[in-house]
Amino acid sequence: MSDFTIIEFFDRFPTDDVCLDHLWLVRFGASYKCPKCSKEGKFHRVKKRPVYECQCSHQVSPMMGTPFAKSRTSLRKWFYAMYLFTTSRHGVPAKELQRQLGVTYKTAWRMGHEIRKYMSDVDGDGQYGGHVEMDETYIGGKKKHKDSSYKLNRSHFKDKTIVYGMVERNGSLQTYVVEDRKRKTIQKHVDKKVVKGSIISTDEAPCYQFLGKAGYQHGSVCHEDYEWKNGIYHTNTIEGFWSRLKSSIRGTHIHVSKKYLPNYLGEFEYRYNMRKSPKWMFERLLGAF
Ligand SMILES: [Zn+2]
Repeated sequence: MSDFTIIEFFDRFPTDDVCLDHLWLVRFGASYKCPKCSKEGKFHRVKKRPVYECQCSHQVSPMMGTPFAKSRTSLRKWFYAMYLFTTSRHGVPAKELQRQLGVTYKTAWRMGHEIRKYMSDVDGDGQYGGHVEMDETYIGGKKKHKDSSYKLNRSHFKDKTIVYGMVERNGSLQTYVVEDRKRKTIQKHVDKKVVKGSIISTDEAPCYQFLGKAGYQHGSVCHEDYEWKNGIYHTNTIEGFWSRLKSSIRGTHIHVSKKYLPNYLGEFEYRYNMRKSPKWMFERLLGAF
């Protein structure tokens, strides 16, 4: 695991100009083809303005189409905010951004949401195989009770959001906000994401009973009977993710509304999936704009 230290960050991005050059490179590459004259790699930076100009005098801004373009916050502050998002383990509260960047709370809050949106766009593509764990959980709402017992009355969960997730052991993770815990709902995602013949671990919830017949090697643990492991079958990885996610949301965000929950999920998913390469995480986030 290669760390991306704060010293390295400031060495690499000492000024707004350096950040702009970097953004240009990441988004348009060294040999960007001019949309006007079709010549390649003829752009140079225009003095005192955040744009690049072709020999034919056509100008392009590397901030075009990004949240940086509409923002009065300097590019370097945006880069630093993204650095914090990709290196923090538990997410970045708006208060923290406000303090570290010296911007207003409102600005900090909006920056956080923009960054989170892009983090959730960069997803672990491709299908899952090997050994996959899946589980659902409830997030939000006010009532306190055991989260993973599926026998609780439906009214307990009225104000909560159901999140379903799967993780490939030693691989990546994907979450979905779902309407219900019916087989149909779950199967739709499994069919799309998990290669037939893979091993799948779940608990004994009814929505997973189809897996064996659907061409997967399915095993379950019975949490009702305090069984946490059944041979190779267990759901400890996905449950570990749920518990870190929930304690982070509790610790850094007072309330996450249903509307924004997918962005928070995306942020934590991104961090989990890129956990082995924080440096690349930052680059990839920049490239997402
Ligand atoms: Zn040109």
